[in-house]
Amino acid sequence: MLNINCITVGAFHVNTYLIEDVATHKLAIIDTGETAELAQYIQNKVPSIEIDKILLTHGHLDHAGSLCNLQKITSASTYLPRLEKPLFEALPQQGDWFGASHMNRECGRIDQWVDNGDVIELGETTLKFISTPGHTPGQGCYYDEENIFVGDTLFAGSIGRTDLPMGNHQLMEESLIKLFELPESLTVYSGHGNKTTLKQERLTNPFLNFLR
Ligand SMILES: [Zn+2]
Repeated sequence: MLNINCITVGAFHVNTYLIEDVATHKLAIIDTGETAELAQYIQNKVPSIEIDKILLTHGHLDHAGSLCNLQKITSASTYLPRLEKPLFEALPQQGDWFGASHMNRECGRIDQWVDNGDVIELGETTLKFISTPGHTPGQGCYYDEENIFVGDTLFAGSIGRTDLPMGNHQLMEESLIKLFELPESLTVYSGHGNKTTLKQERLTNPFLNFLR
């Protein structure tokens, strides 16, 4: 079971998550933002906390751009979907794509490349990884029995855009079909905006008409 704390940071109002395995108090971060805000938030914690893992949903600058800042304050093992390698390695140029060269970022260190079906242990919580490409080549989601962290795959009332470099709408539809084969009761924690559930989105999300 997880405690979940959402910290929204940066110019893109990205949701980063500090998650805690309730049984063992082991901590992981999901996504980083592109600013030093999350690193500062963690450093300011009293008593101090230790991060066990950093899990990245995808390689966009607002999700992975601050990895270097976090790796200055933690030696946590860092996980990224394997198919995100090309996008991640473009972090030093991604700001330019948005006409914002001040948002170009260094690449941090990846310790574990994640593939569909992989299992990640956080204390007594088992997180599974499902690959949901479309928004990006390797975007994926981490989930347990109750919660799913979807990055920019799905939002409350919307879905991730596929018009950015390396996006693919056909793949996105296939991924959403796969995502909605998971239990409907899962609470969805998105990369932007409010939390929701798979059930709520299946019923009301106007971008999911093709699923109905
Ligand atoms: Zn994104």
